[in-house]
Amino acid sequence: MVNVISSVIGYPRIGEKREWKRALESFWSKKISKDELTTKLEDIRLKNLQKLKNFGVDLIPVGDFSLYDHVLDTSAIFGIVPKRFKYSGGPVSLDTYFDIARGNDEAIASEMTKWFNTNYHYIVPEFEDSTPQLVENRPLAYYKEAKEKLGIDGKPVVLGPVTFIKLAKDQEDNFETRLKQFAPLYGQILKELEDAGATWIQIDEPSLTGQFSAEELTVIHTLYEELAQAAPNVKIILQTYFEKVTHYKEITALPVHGIGLDFVHGDSLGQLKEFGFPKNKVLAAGVVDGRNVWRADLDAKLDILDQIQVHVDPNRLIIQPASTLLHVPVTTKTEEQLDPIIKGGLSFADEKIAEIVLLKKAIEGGKGAIYDELIENREERKALNASSYRQNKKVKETVENLTEKDVNRPATFANRIIEQDKRFELPLLPTTTIGSLPQTAEVRQTRSKWRRGDITIEQYEAFINGQIDKWIKIQEEIGIDVLVHGEFERTDMVEYFGEKFAGFAVTKFGWVQSYGSRCVKPPLILGDVAFSEPITVKESVYAQSLTEKPVKGMLTGPVTILNWSFVRDDIPRVDVQNQIALALRDEILALEENDIKIIQVDEPALREGLPLDPSKKGAYLEAAVYAFKLATAAVENDTQIHTHMCYSDFNEIIDSISALDADVISIETSRSHGEIIEAFETNTYDKEIGLGVYDIHSPRVPSKDEIKHNIHRALKTIHPKQFWINPDCGLKTRQEKETIAALEVMIEAANEIRKEQLEIVKS
Ligand code: GLN
Ligand code: ZN
Repeated sequence: MVNVISSVIGYPRIGEKREWKRALESFWSKKISKDELTTKLEDIRLKNLQKLKNFGVDLIPVGDFSLYDHVLDTSAIFGIVPKRFKYSGGPVSLDTYFDIARGNDEAIASEMTKWFNTNYHYIVPEFEDSTPQLVENRPLAYYKEAKEKLGIDGKPVVLGPVTFIKLAKDQEDNFETRLKQFAPLYGQILKELEDAGATWIQIDEPSLTGQFSAEELTVIHTLYEELAQAAPNVKIILQTYFEKVTHYKEITALPVHGIGLDFVHGDSLGQLKEFGFPKNKVLAAGVVDGRNVWRADLDAKLDILDQIQVHVDPNRLIIQPASTLLHVPVTTKTEEQLDPIIKGGLSFADEKIAEIVLLKKAIEGGKGAIYDELIENREERKALNASSYRQNKKVKETVENLTEKDVNRPATFANRIIEQDKRFELPLLPTTTIGSLPQTAEVRQTRSKWRRGDITIEQYEAFINGQIDKWIKIQEEIGIDVLVHGEFERTDMVEYFGEKFAGFAVTKFGWVQSYGSRCVKPPLILGDVAFSEPITVKESVYAQSLTEKPVKGMLTGPVTILNWSFVRDDIPRVDVQNQIALALRDEILALEENDIKIIQVDEPALREGLPLDPSKKGAYLEAAVYAFKLATAAVENDTQIHTHMCYSDFNEIIDSISALDADVISIETSRSHGEIIEAFETNTYDKEIGLGVYDIHSPRVPSKDEIKHNIHRALKTIHPKQFWINPDCGLKTRQEKETIAALEVMIEAANEIRKEQLEIVKS
């Protein structure tokens, strides 16, 4: 008899209706006590576990739950607290834990950064010179809780030492020293779990999808030997995800009971076929996509599992989603407003778990064992694929018939800029902002009122126009050169377009954790994307009617829309990206036709979408450049295309950024000015560029000298004729008063430097 194990790597923390978020935020705003918070979170956690038990999952993860972030949890387990939080040893208190994540009056929060190639952000560990200690065995507490309260013999989940160390801030060359420090501590965690009765332990090592030197691999091997010895009776699964592992032979040879591989995002199957799999180990095969929301093709999954079984005895097989389900919403059950054809094609965390349980049954008992479910799976998927959403012939033909002409502007930048200068007559060092202006409580409340039907669309639009009136006046008074309408009508820069292009759908509860209590609700791109009618023209034209100065049109670019959505998986992502680009192209032409001649196409997600596997980067960047150009190349020579990106570490991608052929680019830089200037010392950039001259993430109003200092630094490497002056990013999270004050300072600084520059030119 075949006995396959079903398993889950991790489950969303946030609850079906974001109960987790609400509990945390109520605690932070002192509406509930610590005890109430603890009770609420325990309730969410136990409900999740009970759900997994009811699904019939064999290996239920415990300890993947978090009060904020699992990397921060790991720091807390080892008493790694930055000195500025004045921690004095012992278990890290709840207050200190949240202080590290959110900062307090005396100390700024730890940095937060993207978790591999997801939109989840973790708190970056700061080791400083601290000596890690095991101050609290949290996995053990979670293990005991599940056992005592629900009778679940869970599989504790621990973030592995290699990944934890690699993610830390202060790296340098001490990888080996650090691993040696951590080995006994991890050993102790495992030993205590073993003593408490744990059978399986999952050690997450997603970093193992990256590159390691031969020496590092040896050190890693020794480390895992130590861990295996520390708890000889537990079965350790070394879990990787998000890509294939780079060093397949070395990784699968590590002295652990099982190896978890991602069979969705990298070619793990190819590696398995080429190198085989150790006979004495268990393979945890991640076959269902843990990052996307579409119903799995069960036939195709069974086919992959058949191929895997050529190399692995099914009795040594665990089947599971390819990654934790943290990155998908909880359940499709509550999406009652969706067209049943769409809903039938969706699979969130709960539905994915059901798929895993079905696959297990089918391996054990043959396809006949899941006959009805298989038929249903085929029919639902077929219905969506055959629906009008996915059969837009016109879109398909347009994409197929694209030529070089469609992606290249007729004139070079050198020639375009002459015409643009003539048209706009902007001063030296022109000033502008990135697009959004403060979204006050009033703006948000008015939008909710309209959504609830308390006010009419006319009333809502009149309100938005009122905001535009007010801010065009303010911008003119401050003396900004290129104005914006302020984006008051938008909640989110992706969802706003998603709601209006064909091919998208928006869910009601499709939230996923982005960082801390913050969740995002990515739109679904389920069908062929197409332009239906102008989206942004009305507001831009209205704003332009109020002023003689140019008003910049404001759009989100194709790469960002793609990266921040859940994208259909029946056609290549690149095709979807090009469909979005074509829809945006129509929007851009509509703006141009209505005399909006400066148009900004934001691409803040371009860099974060870079694939983990270095061999895939080139193709990704090429496709991104293509889509951006496809969206923007159709305009006249004297229409000026801007773009904006929220990061500065782009040394690696500067050629691609230049290849976008945008006339002006603005980049966030004030927190890492030095590095970015370096990038321009070593690379030539021939188009216009605005390096953010002050940080918008803090309410602090910058001083004139600071801003001037930043501008002077930039002008050392960038020609004044190329340089624009703008804040780092959009201003929507700021208050009105501080925003006006900061912009006034920015303009004063700009005026003074202009004067200096003109004198230099004269002399
Ligand atoms: N135009 C957008 C804004 O100002 C850009 C935001 C972003 O890049 N994240 O809000
Ligand atoms: Zn930005």
